[in-house]
Amino acid sequence: MNPFEELEVDIILSGKCCYCGACGAFCKYIHYENERPVAENCEHCGVCYDVCPVNYFSESKAEIEIFGEKRKDDAIGYYREILAGRATDENIRSKAQDGGAVTAILTYLLESGAIDSAVVTGRDESWNPKPIVAISKEDLLASTGSKYTQCLVLLGVKDAIKMGKKSIALVGLPCHVKAIRNAQMSGHSLGAEKVSVVLGLFCMETFSRDLLKHKLEEIGVKIEDVEKFDIKKGKLMAWVKGEVKTIPLKELKDAVRTSCKFCNDFTAEFADISFGSVGSDDGWSTIIIRSDRGEKIVKGAVDQGYLEVQPITEKGIEAIRKLASRKKSCKVVYTQI
Ligand SMILES: Cc1cc2nc3c(=O)[nH]c(=O)nc-3n(C[C@H](O)[C@H](O)[C@H](O)COP(=O)(O)OP(=O)(O)OC[C@H]3O[C@@H](n4cnc5c(N)ncnc54)[C@H](O)[C@@H]3O)c2cc1C
Ligand code: SF4
Ligand code: SF4
Ligand code: SF4
Repeated sequence: MNPFEELEVDIILSGKCCYCGACGAFCKYIHYENERPVAENCEHCGVCYDVCPVNYFSESKAEIEIFGEKRKDDAIGYYREILAGRATDENIRSKAQDGGAVTAILTYLLESGAIDSAVVTGRDESWNPKPIVAISKEDLLASTGSKYTQCLVLLGVKDAIKMGKKSIALVGLPCHVKAIRNAQMSGHSLGAEKVSVVLGLFCMETFSRDLLKHKLEEIGVKIEDVEKFDIKKGKLMAWVKGEVKTIPLKELKDAVRTSCKFCNDFTAEFADISFGSVGSDDGWSTIIIRSDRGEKIVKGAVDQGYLEVQPITEKGIEAIRKLASRKKSCKVVYTQI
């Protein structure tokens, strides 16, 4: 078997592929059909096998390489500080999912010249997510908000590199974060070091976009009419023409992507900075500062007036820890060392 065939047997055909886009980002022979990677004319180099975050991820190696030391918190992972934050710009806040901290920080990084692009997730009218290479504040504002379906985010890194970008920020779910870290640590010459900032989002699960569309139709909602989605208090909330329609998460179990059932990372443990809503008040984003680079970025964004921060309560941290532990305890953990 060639390395791609091994990936097919171990990951893709067994329903564990999280559809991150890493294999296709770093191999010209791989494309995607029906939410699956497909390879033609494989040259047996092994890159796809090595970068796939479901196939392999070394937590201890990543912690030493990124943070210089190992975690003290089993559930949340390595971190320096946890804060609540929000954009100072009201326009960002009005379009953002929570406090707009992600978009405020990316705006600061772009406008200060610390990065030349950011790979974010946009969407079409039918909520099909797509990776975008943002090079301006306008691009960032067009891609705020959470899409609760899976995106081939790593293909955005391929596009950014093709565009000649040299200092790229990546915003991704925990699986995307692991994928870029694998590519950076793989020893293959892939250009992944051009991703200089990794921002992670908390994630419990994503839905199959088609099954989500179907579930919404059952409650009389056309996905094209949804202005915003959120998940709060055990419910998926969809804003439609000023009204909020809800579906209990337990009724959406069948729509959850199979691969998410194998994932044990809630807080994007290997990002420079992680963001979520749990732990903070409405209108604020929770910010977990993990790396030295992440610490400097948050300080810079605050000093330059892009971001305001406030302490988070112990109760807030406990809420994050509880969800992170729950995700670890009910997942099948394999090839994670
Ligand atoms: C699928 C998903 C599940 C989540 N689950 C939880 C949860 O269980 N608990 C919790 O506390 N928080 C969760 N979050 C995080 C939360 O919804 C917010 O993203 C976070 O609080 C940051 O808010 P913000 O206002 O700072 O972000 P914004 O400033 O609005 O920026 C949002 C960023 O997220 C990116 N993005 C949107 N959708 C995706 C996607 N599908 N894949 C990759 N990037 C994407 C956008 O490109 C944008 O850069 C989830 C997010 C997503 C996308
Ligand atoms: S050429 Fe390399 S990366 Fe591409 S499919 Fe084959 S083994 Fe995988
Ligand atoms: S690298 Fe990502 S898209 Fe490719 S097989 Fe692995 S999980 Fe799936
Ligand atoms: S639960 Fe894990 S595998 Fe599923 S989308 Fe979230 S981070 Fe990716």
